[in-house]
Amino acid sequence: MRSLDSRLPEPDQQGARPTVAIASLGGTITMTSADGGGVAPSLTAEDLLASVPELRTAAVLTTETIRTVPGASLSLTDILEALQWARSAVAGGASGVVMIQGTDTIEETAYLLDLYWGEQAPLIVTGAMRPPQLVSADGPANLLASVRVACAEQACGRGVLVVLNDEIHAASRVRKMRASGLNAFESPSFGPLGYIDEGVPVFGNTFARVSLDLPVPTCAPRVALLETALGDDGELLDLAVGAGFDGVVLSGFGVGHVSSTVAAAVERAAASVPVVLASRTGNGSTYRHSYGFVGSESDLITRGAMIAGWLDARKARILLACLIAGGADGPRIRRELDQRGGLMV
Ligand code: ASP
Repeated sequence: MRSLDSRLPEPDQQGARPTVAIASLGGTITMTSADGGGVAPSLTAEDLLASVPELRTAAVLTTETIRTVPGASLSLTDILEALQWARSAVAGGASGVVMIQGTDTIEETAYLLDLYWGEQAPLIVTGAMRPPQLVSADGPANLLASVRVACAEQACGRGVLVVLNDEIHAASRVRKMRASGLNAFESPSFGPLGYIDEGVPVFGNTFARVSLDLPVPTCAPRVALLETALGDDGELLDLAVGAGFDGVVLSGFGVGHVSSTVAAAVERAAASVPVVLASRTGNGSTYRHSYGFVGSESDLITRGAMIAGWLDARKARILLACLIAGGADGPRIRRELDQRGGLMV
């Protein structure tokens, strides 16, 4: 990894401006087209900064271009490398960090970073829905808003935050809810933590979070993400286990339901790998004991499934992969899901 770019301003001598470290992994915010065809990642972190002169008055900035890829092509390893970079930036004196990437996978990468982010300093993940060559490209505004949040004292200790469209979201709650449009991101169950108003970050909601007390993964467990649907016969679930996946997250109907046939497959799967049940609605929590039919949430718990609670399936998959990578046993996995899914009593 390259060291932080020294061509950018030296740390403010008077200490008047905080230092913010900015890294880019790619995404639409970096995408251009030379010939009028489809856009592809090309710009560096430094290019992005050059397009927003206001950033220089907000903070002393350092940059790093870690990857120049679409969000879809990011891997667990890329994000863990970015995590390492962010940690060293803070150790080197940055008071906040901004990570730029494709919006397609922000809801997963931000949560992955959040699980291991034990720093007080804010780590902000941002991107853009419109590439820089379009009229009203949102990248510059998102970048400026992110740097402002990264500098804000109220953002400290809140873990990883996702900032787009002048909204501040918790990494564990945010989802990309629309395929396009500036308002693509929402925190469907509880709403955003705050907003950027007249350039000032304002937090209206608080929530508890703790980073994961496990070593950063050195391997990438394979966790299947399956969604049940009308007429599902459970064959895919059997196939996933048979193919050697290390765990499964199953998006069930409503509060965590599947057909009676899938229920039998859940029991078979849970006998050999961790199976986590989430809601395919992506909004609201799975239940525990309200329904009692075959394939209901209470039945699936009896058959060995663990429930994701308020965590959506994608985040539950990231959590399960990290727990497996960290060598967590069944009770530990259950405990972490209970706590992080918000069901701890
Ligand atoms: N549409 C995506 C974005 O907004 C593309 C990507 O994730 O790279 O960045």
